Amino acid sequence: MSDNIILKAEGLNRYFGALHATKDVSFEVPDGQMRAFIGPNGAGKSTLMDLICNRTTPNSGKVTFLGEDITGLAPDKIVKKGMCKCFQITQIFRDLTVYENVQISRINMNKKAYSFLPVKQSYLRDEVEQILEMVGILDKMNTVSGYMSYGDQRRLDIAIALAMEPRLLILDEPAAGVAREEAYTLMDLIRQLAQKRHMTMLFIEHDMEIVFNYADEISVMSEGALIATGTPDEIKNNEFVKKAYLGGMAE
Ligand code: ADP
Ligand code: MG
Repeated sequence: MSDNIILKAEGLNRYFGALHATKDVSFEVPDGQMRAFIGPNGAGKSTLMDLICNRTTPNSGKVTFLGEDITGLAPDKIVKKGMCKCFQITQIFRDLTVYENVQISRINMNKKAYSFLPVKQSYLRDEVEQILEMVGILDKMNTVSGYMSYGDQRRLDIAIALAMEPRLLILDEPAAGVAREEAYTLMDLIRQLAQKRHMTMLFIEHDMEIVFNYADEISVMSEGALIATGTPDEIKNNEFVKKAYLGGMAE
């Protein structure tokens, strides 16, 4: 594997009963890239993301992350190796404050933090506040999470993932369900984080304007297969893609 490839998927297959949800999917992602995955509903995008972090186990295939074979490794071990997935706000504890949510994530990531109380606790406080500042919700750190706007909950969701110090972050439709302007603000935030923290981002997105604006490269899925990968310009002009996806896009 060449040095700057952070993630490599080889021949990933997943069946749900008779349904072949991902068909022999292989791809590589260079370190630091913003890679979009697009394709019609049911194309297998979410399944593919779950196969990469082993939230769904592949029937066959291999995933290499940072040069190491992580196929079949428990999801929490994969997180500790530096790969995280955002969960569309379902991982937020709605009754806890914003601060507490990120603190728990941080503690879970580094259980040793407890043994260094009280010194480490203040370190932790700085870290949590830094993360909240980064995603723009530091002023809401004492707010009960469930009371925040949907857009701010998306930010908190990203903050919870950041607390685990990922090198690679998977975002399944990060801007879904928010107004267009907020979607752009969120994507700007994600791009800034990628650059500042040198993180690699894999994101699924339906809005083609967002995809073409933010992706370094785009991978196109159709009926479980990965049919093309290229720069936004290449994908815009790929005849096969136009026919299989962009042309027939009814969404
Ligand atoms: P996408 O994210 O591109 O919309 P998905 O990966 O969610 O597509 O789904 C791909 C196909 O696999 C769909 O036909 C979907 O119904 C099916 N599928 C996904 N998850 C499951 C599951 N847990 N059990 C059964 N079928 C599933
Ligand atoms: Mg999906």
